[in-house]
Amino acid sequence: MMNRAARSEYGVLRFHGAVRREKVSAILSLSGIACISLGLAWTICYLMFDRAELSIVFVGLMAVGILALVRSRRSDGASLLIVAHGVLAAICAIALIDAPIERVPRSVHLFLLPLAAGAAFTFEARERYGSMVFPLGCMVLFVGFALGTLDTLAPGLSPPLELREWGARANTTISMALLAAIFGIYRLDIGKRLRLERELGRAVRNGEIEVHYQPQVRVDGRPIGVEALVRWRHPSGTTLSPDTFIPLAEESTLINDIGLEVLRQACGLLEQWSHHPNTCGLRVAVNISPVQLLDAAFVPSVARLVAQSGINPALLELELTESALSADTAEMIERMRELEVLGVSWALDDFGTGYSSLSTLRRLPVRKLKIDRQFVQEVTAQERTQRLLGKIVEISQIMGMNALAEGVETVEQRDLLVTLGCEQFQGYLFARPMPAAALHAWLDSPMICEGV
Ligand code: C2E
Ligand code: CA
Ligand code: CA
Repeated sequence: MMNRAARSEYGVLRFHGAVRREKVSAILSLSGIACISLGLAWTICYLMFDRAELSIVFVGLMAVGILALVRSRRSDGASLLIVAHGVLAAICAIALIDAPIERVPRSVHLFLLPLAAGAAFTFEARERYGSMVFPLGCMVLFVGFALGTLDTLAPGLSPPLELREWGARANTTISMALLAAIFGIYRLDIGKRLRLERELGRAVRNGEIEVHYQPQVRVDGRPIGVEALVRWRHPSGTTLSPDTFIPLAEESTLINDIGLEVLRQACGLLEQWSHHPNTCGLRVAVNISPVQLLDAAFVPSVARLVAQSGINPALLELELTESALSADTAEMIERMRELEVLGVSWALDDFGTGYSSLSTLRRLPVRKLKIDRQFVQEVTAQERTQRLLGKIVEISQIMGMNALAEGVETVEQRDLLVTLGCEQFQGYLFARPMPAAALHAWLDSPMICEGV
């Protein structure tokens, strides 16, 4: 893991997750400050001109600004969407009052441009509503206000003329300054992304992709296999966790190369294990991104790797997260079946966090359900979670699958899971992810050999 010093020294290494959070936070803070200062300034102006009834919409704008600042700490997509709609509603309400009058054109609708640009740049391409539908909606409204199409809806409460003249100048300047600021943030962001992608591409070629392994155990603590977890050992000496670079890799084709490298190392480990009686029955589970699964070259690549390494494919387990099944389900199931025919097995990862129906579950060639860590963390505190977990274990049994509980950290959690019928576990209580050499030492330790 990166320490604080390494983070600041290698600013470029604060990869995708952090970069995105920074960008969302910057956009939310910028919107918050803009809404609060504009709202406050106009509220004061209207009060001074004895038009308290018109200041109400600006109080609304300030409320949206406060919401944006509060939400900037979370920096998630939902916050961004809520704030974007709040700003949109405020701009539309104010633009209606701001109907053009003699000598003074409408100007508030200009804020729709930075709003559209901000959404288009900040939401990821796959977040279609935020990155496409919302900005297009803003543009349509902009055109509507610019052409006066919506003027019939204006309440006929025009603010005083001198205020309107002054306001038009201020609105035009501020909205264009905001647009320029958003373009500036975007340019910086693109620069960072390009650097990251270049570095990541080089990482695969230079052998910087390393795989750590986390044991999976039975009730008695004996290992049944391991999960392969990718790490990026950067030349600077820092080791980066997958959460920081997998999402970026998934946006390009790099995930295919990284994924194959992990599979190659996993097959190498299985081959090594196949020569020793203590390890020849252990499985290796490998995480597969939906992007890889939808790539036409994936199935032949896995077939080639399995054939070249000469391993028993039944010992290779592929993990797909439940949430990955929300899109292109039919094609994914088809690919999963093709791989099952090769002899490899499938596990459904983070089970309980997606929305797969029982009918989808029945169609999947899945042998194992991996119960998400979040459930396991809640199991000792919430009776409802206990009942739910019991049902998940029951469903897995009815469907002829195994259930494995992830993220088990305490003896209390393990004991409760055992009473609920769970027989396979993974988590810090047993072992953390570790490099292959440390894994071999762990497997050789007397406690493991004796099954304590
Ligand atoms: P995951 O598949 O759910 O992997 C389990 C994650 O939980 C791992 O984090 C592991 O270190 C962590 N973990 C295990 N036991 C415990 C525990 O007891 N407590 C807590 N708090 N955490 C625990 P890691 O290694 O950072 O991996 C994060 C995610 O990155 C993985 O989640 C997986 O979705 C993805 N990932 C990892 N390797 C690969 C890969 O090779 N390819 C793809 N596509 N994704 C990968
Ligand atoms: Ca996994
Ligand atoms: Ca998981």
